[in-house]
Amino acid sequence: MRWIFVGASTIASQYMLGAVRAQGDEVVWVVSGSAEHGAAWAEAHDIARATTDLAEALADARCETVYVSSTNEKHLPQAMAAIEAGKHVLCEKPLAMTVGEAAGMVQAADAAGVTFATNHHLRCSGTHQAVRDLIATGKIGNVLSLRIFHAVHLPPHLQGWRINDAAAGGGVIPDITVHNADVTRFLLGEDPKTVVAQMGASGMGDGVEDSAMSVWTMPSGAMVMSHESFTHPFSGSGLEVHGTEGSIFARGVMTQEPVGDVELVTAEGRLDVEVSRHNLYEHGVAAFCAAVKGEGRPAADGVDGIKSLAVAMAVRDAAAQGAAVDVDYGGVA
Ligand code: NDP
Repeated sequence: MRWIFVGASTIASQYMLGAVRAQGDEVVWVVSGSAEHGAAWAEAHDIARATTDLAEALADARCETVYVSSTNEKHLPQAMAAIEAGKHVLCEKPLAMTVGEAAGMVQAADAAGVTFATNHHLRCSGTHQAVRDLIATGKIGNVLSLRIFHAVHLPPHLQGWRINDAAAGGGVIPDITVHNADVTRFLLGEDPKTVVAQMGASGMGDGVEDSAMSVWTMPSGAMVMSHESFTHPFSGSGLEVHGTEGSIFARGVMTQEPVGDVELVTAEGRLDVEVSRHNLYEHGVAAFCAAVKGEGRPAADGVDGIKSLAVAMAVRDAAAQGAAVDVDYGGVA
């Protein structure tokens, strides 16, 4: 397939360009708000065309597919324009600034008959897939709790809009809580119901939160703890799932790389679980491309993107109000 990349971003250059090319696909256009940045980006990455005019790129009938990785407030208008032009869309998380906007994108894609997906990479990881299999096959019995450790140190080159621009969708909650919400839904197969939370700024956030902790209740009665931050240089990442018959410890797994370890602990002892080490982004793009061709579904579809955003927004609301908040999925089942 031929692709239009909307947003000359870090994620596009570091991971997504390679993931798309690994399918044998071509990136024909990059669309950027800055002519200079877009042209330099295109040249650095061997892309034929750069433009600041999204409509010009969308008019290229050779391109079936659009990947949106601009700052968060631009996802809605750019994805809507792509859908209107009849393109399939792979959109970065968070899909939009509000649940209603995200739902509008998914409805528009459905009405246009195009494939629409959310780039939630963690569910594409061999470690997360192994954890899900252990839970689904009953290895730990009934799930009692899930604890997600996702406090990282935002590298200097990303310390821009994420830490100081609320209007661009900055803050750790739209950035990382959405991932934790998607991981929770992927692993447990149910949607968080109610949230209590705290958020704050601990050294980086300037007008937006850089850290949050929250507890979510699940319909099954399981409890989920989610910790995310931009300011923790040495914390490491991971998750633990505790059940009536065992526990799973997944260390170093909240990451973009195919790394980390999964350990199962039961009455029979400790077991190092074998995991696939495939590239997360190539896995996600391959599933998206297959879905475009009518084979299967994307790794995370539009509804998954709406739901992860809904949980993140509930965390922010709960922290702001100092009260428990029911997650509002905007009527999406
Ligand atoms: P960047 O800050 O690298 O890029 C965002 C935008 O900033 C670009 O699209 C570009 O604007 C502009 N920009 C970047 N560098 C320059 C520059 N040197 N000069 C001028 N403009 C510049 O953001 P990220 O790549 O970190 O994130 C982009 C999106 O991807 C976000 O929505 C984020 O949430 C998501 N993301 C997803 C990840 C995942 O694993 N799924 C991981 C990381 C990010 P323009 O659009 O005008 O070209």
